[in-house]
Amino acid sequence: MHHVTLAIIGSGPAGYTAAIYASRARLNPTLFAGYQSGGQLMWTTDIENFPGFPDGVPGPQLMQSMRSQAEKFGTVVQDVFVTAVDFSARPYKLWTNLPAGVLPSIFEHGTPEVLAELRTQIMQEAPALTSDAVIIATGATSVMLGIPGEMELLGRGVSTCAVCDAAFFRDKETFVIGGGDSAMEDAMALTKFAKSVTLIHRRDSFKASKIMQERVLSHDKVKVLWNTTVKGVLGEQKVASITVLTKGVEKSLPADGVFLAIGHRTMNRIFESVVATDHHGYVVTRKSLSAEGVAAAEAAMSPEGLVLYPTMTSVEGVFAAGDGVDVRYKQAITAAGNGCEAALDAERWLERQ
Ligand code: NDP
Repeated sequence: MHHVTLAIIGSGPAGYTAAIYASRARLNPTLFAGYQSGGQLMWTTDIENFPGFPDGVPGPQLMQSMRSQAEKFGTVVQDVFVTAVDFSARPYKLWTNLPAGVLPSIFEHGTPEVLAELRTQIMQEAPALTSDAVIIATGATSVMLGIPGEMELLGRGVSTCAVCDAAFFRDKETFVIGGGDSAMEDAMALTKFAKSVTLIHRRDSFKASKIMQERVLSHDKVKVLWNTTVKGVLGEQKVASITVLTKGVEKSLPADGVFLAIGHRTMNRIFESVVATDHHGYVVTRKSLSAEGVAAAEAAMSPEGLVLYPTMTSVEGVFAAGDGVDVRYKQAITAAGNGCEAALDAERWLERQ
């Protein structure tokens, strides 16, 4: 069985940055890239807020560059998906097999019972690899509506990140779907540029915090379509219109930008019940911005009053970074920074073993 010092699971900015730091620290990491190496940025066109690229950089190009940089320093990248882990004893074990006929999408939709049964089956085979330390960087994904046109026009008017893309919509007609804090925040970000911002919400009241609702509802550029769902996004090369349904009446509305803000789903299911996660499914580390994170930090305080190994999870020697940990920021640059922190923590922890 193959043994490594450090295994990194995930190939977004957090995973690749952790790999660059860990390979330069001579930890010879193996990185599991999954079926679709590169993560969420593979779906974006130009990224204009990643420092160092004044003219922007296509998402896939940025991710390929990160991968090449990690490989240049010795990271072994395996384009396979980790299907099960056992962190109950060291060295930690990782599996990549799936029983015949089972598709990887089971990890998105399977019930906890189905996944527990699957895990037992997978673990009947020998693990693919054992490792002294592990960095979890499997990320998150924006929840999509699942309507026609949405994926085809993603990055061409359909966006899941107003902070990233609002500036492309100067004097444009924009729509934000959702009624939570993310939707309010996206709407506010768009008011700085767009001609109009219409919030579309499926119910007659928002879920968002009162203060954020008030800020949005009092803005003269913002309108709300209550009790409304979006049925489709239309356009050839870019978004031209959306079809909406309000109380049984269908309408077409001209649109330039459609921002989806209906939540995020973490890609942490294989780690549930293996490391501590919060009630949204985010892996808890000692720097998580949640009550669980604060409690973990307090429990890991050194005599000098510093939190030891801030990116460590509830399992000693297992670290986590990126969007699968980050409830709040979810930016490529914050994920990359967090990946760097996890690699430095892993390096220090390994040195002390
Ligand atoms: P939320 O889960 O809070 O809200 C999702 C919204 O999308 C809800 O209004 C929901 O509708 C709607 N929705 C979900 N699925 C669909 C669907 N299929 N079709 C139409 N509408 C749908 O997610 P957020 O991303 O807004 O927030 C996540 C967490 O992050 C929250 O805890 C939030 O407070 C926090 N956050 C905090 C911020 C801040 O403090 N500044 C900023 C952003 C997020 P319904 O209301 O009917 O359920």
